[in-house]
Amino acid sequence: MVKKIDHIGIAVKDLEETLKFYQDVLGMDLAGTEIVEEQKVKVAFLPIGDTKIELLESTDKEGPIARYIEKKGEGVQHIAYRVDDVEKAIKEMKEKGIRMIDESPRYGAGGAKIAFAHPKSTNGVLIELCQRD
Ligand code: ZN
Repeated sequence: MVKKIDHIGIAVKDLEETLKFYQDVLGMDLAGTEIVEEQKVKVAFLPIGDTKIELLESTDKEGPIARYIEKKGEGVQHIAYRVDDVEKAIKEMKEKGIRMIDESPRYGAGGAKIAFAHPKSTNGVLIELCQRD
């Protein structure tokens, strides 16, 4: 079902500050930033090989990333797997007994169609299914 790791999502408190580490220390390039209103996040993409690092800063103290950081601190927040057809993947996951956070696709940064599986069904890892056309 999954083709590759589309990106790794990392929750950060301060995007500008964090970018200094990724750009100046690790020498990665910033491909772009985007605000995703629906999820109350500002996202920065840094391509690496065939995948990307996605840095996520909350734009609202009640947003999901702000709540995540409050509970667990900064760090790896989700792993996104590329799928060809996210609706089909959701259906297959459900048929196999996996609890989905999203039962239908929602908008993801960069125009992706995404859906999250519940970490209770995936050994504690927040998994994003990600379709790009
Ligand atoms: Zn993501």
